[in-house]
Amino acid sequence: MVVSLCIHGHFYQPPREDPWLGTIPAEPSAAPMRNWNERITRESYAPLAWARRLDDRGRITDLVNCYEWISFNAGPTLLRWMRQAFPRVLDRMIDGDAKSRARWGHGNAMAQIYHHMIMPLATPEDRAIEIRWAIDDFRHYFGHGPEGMWLSECAVDLPTLESLADQDIRFVILAPRQARAVVENGETVPVDEGSLKVGEPYRVALPSGKSITAVFYHGGLSQAIAFEGLLRNGEHFWQRIAGEAGNLAWQAREMGRESPLLTLATDGETYGHHFTFGEMALAYALAQGASGRDDIHLTNLPAYIAAHPPLREALIWEPSSWSCVHGVERWRSDCGCTDGGHYGWNQRWRGPLRCALNLARDAVKQHFFTAGKACFKSPAAAQAALAAYGEVLAAPQRAESFAAAHFKCDGAAQDKAWKLLAMQEQSLASFASCAWFFDDIARIEPENAMTFALRALDILRETDGDDNGNRAQEAFAGELQKAESNQSEYDSGKDVFTSEVLPRRDDAAALCLMAWLLLASGNRAPKPGAPSSYAWPEVSVELIAETDDGHSQEGTAIIRASHERLGSRYSWRIVSPSRLQEPGTAFTALAEAVMTVRPEGAPKSRATTRKVSELSQPVSDLLLSSCLENREQVMGPELQALAEHAASMIRPWREAQHDIIRPEFWTTIMPYLAVEYMINDRLPETQQIQLERILSQHLPDKARTLAADLMRRYMLGALENPSHGQNDATLAAWAGRVNRIMPDMDWWTVQNSVWELGREKYPALAGELGFA
Ligand SMILES: [Zn+2]
Repeated sequence: MVVSLCIHGHFYQPPREDPWLGTIPAEPSAAPMRNWNERITRESYAPLAWARRLDDRGRITDLVNCYEWISFNAGPTLLRWMRQAFPRVLDRMIDGDAKSRARWGHGNAMAQIYHHMIMPLATPEDRAIEIRWAIDDFRHYFGHGPEGMWLSECAVDLPTLESLADQDIRFVILAPRQARAVVENGETVPVDEGSLKVGEPYRVALPSGKSITAVFYHGGLSQAIAFEGLLRNGEHFWQRIAGEAGNLAWQAREMGRESPLLTLATDGETYGHHFTFGEMALAYALAQGASGRDDIHLTNLPAYIAAHPPLREALIWEPSSWSCVHGVERWRSDCGCTDGGHYGWNQRWRGPLRCALNLARDAVKQHFFTAGKACFKSPAAAQAALAAYGEVLAAPQRAESFAAAHFKCDGAAQDKAWKLLAMQEQSLASFASCAWFFDDIARIEPENAMTFALRALDILRETDGDDNGNRAQEAFAGELQKAESNQSEYDSGKDVFTSEVLPRRDDAAALCLMAWLLLASGNRAPKPGAPSSYAWPEVSVELIAETDDGHSQEGTAIIRASHERLGSRYSWRIVSPSRLQEPGTAFTALAEAVMTVRPEGAPKSRATTRKVSELSQPVSDLLLSSCLENREQVMGPELQALAEHAASMIRPWREAQHDIIRPEFWTTIMPYLAVEYMINDRLPETQQIQLERILSQHLPDKARTLAADLMRRYMLGALENPSHGQNDATLAAWAGRVNRIMPDMDWWTVQNSVWELGREKYPALAGELGFA
């Protein structure tokens, strides 16, 4: 009997963006990466897109896009980040869905609740918006509507399923212990995780008369992947799958059924991040399934459901979830379910945190409709604009047509409409489930939730003529005071808010200071007559310098949050003890500059002042690493030219010479010298050998990282631009040289590129890169 196998991956990271900038601040625990999104993408999401299959000599025989063969959902906020940071990984996900659609008639991709909020704890309006935004987001990336939707933490109740069915979502995945009973021949039979037959989808009847399909994943095997190390060995992994498939086939035969379904639910970071090379074990198993070994065939859930509609009805426990045995208490009370590793800590803070966020949400919602009178034709039009706003979040280029369809206003009033929508988005983001998941309120996840709420309340204040914004923030902080932290340095959640969250606020002075320094580090500081702009994903700062006396500049700044046209105007002045416009001053200025900013036309008493030392640590870490990266961009070409000269002047060492003269002065150009060594095909062989010797001796650890990065960039550039004239033999020679000085060179991205271009076009290069 054939068994259908569906391996599902849940790809999600909590929103980590600084809500003022829209960019993720530095997360030191993820070093050497910038933040955890980047770290998990490099360790898991990207390896799954190009999973290696090796022969017995360790050479690459195949690069598998696992997204072509597994069912998956990816969080909309993760995809939004990925679109900017790792677009090629996102492309592989989209391509994987398209290929699976062509093969099975239904796509591998499932949608996911937009902000990963716990749906049974959300208001009906918020539930509807989270689903609608998720659908619009999905449609934007994958080019068709979603059939299934992943529920955050599998948290479910009938109203949630009703909301999904209202928007034509046809199926969800649940944990087996969320089933309460199965209805068969009119008889209701209680079930539990052990007795539920997971080999078939079930119909869940809804009070409205509609229904939705629930697929219950295989609990034991899904657990074993996460906790028993099944991914250490591909064949072992397959054997376990085949064993369970055999059980399901036997069970189905007993019941007179055909082709049972084996569904595994896993977290995306299991592959690679939790288990190094886990993606290779998965690729191995997928290859077995694709070949039909052991009568197991791969499928995805909508394809299976279309061919085998549910025959029986299931009743679910409600509310229930996959990570709290008490329903959904984990996200509102001290139920005992927790994570974080501190024995004896309590989670009584969860209730007050949720109350505080609810208070902020209600204030925001009320303000949206009051202030929205100036921007939208009616309350119904405001509601419609909010419901459709997900289209703009997915595709910012739609802002103009969105404004034409939904706003009744122009100019400043239109700016206000965008602010109000952004305010709602931040308020919804504050409900991402991870805030309650761990064991204390003084952790980054609850702090992030409070930061999103603060940003929403800030916009409320900016767009409110009255004192409602201040009152709402006071009420919010007051509620947080009822939350007790387990850590002695904080009395309450209010302390956490005051000492950890409020300093994260990027006011106009902080934005102008950061923009000035980032521009200066890229040699783009404003000068009188030459304005300059710096843009983050959510905000841009235009700095117009009117005066410059060497140590200080003054001018006008225009700050525009996303989609705003007019923006807000400020007067600014930066003062630094070191000269502002000389090379390298960006770094002196980084430590010493003082930025003073006030709204244009406002009295001096309303000015605010910022120094780098006053920025929150995550933001100042981000600023520093961005400035250093900008510096590399600016200085790279000059250092490369210097390295070219140096390489041309190198002569073979004479007898008794064992080192270069004064090697300490060579340190800076070493990575560029490595590039020169790779790409300079005209260098006489004696010099080539000499260069190889110097690099083998003098390329220090961190310089190797930069050297490898620069060499990959050159190699990828040459592959993407064949018109530059490097043929297979030349590129193979480049790679060969690099392999001699860096036998451990990481060619991963270059291998992917060669694979996609067709390795038959680059046989010599492919050999050097480790292909069979
Ligand atoms: Zn619990």
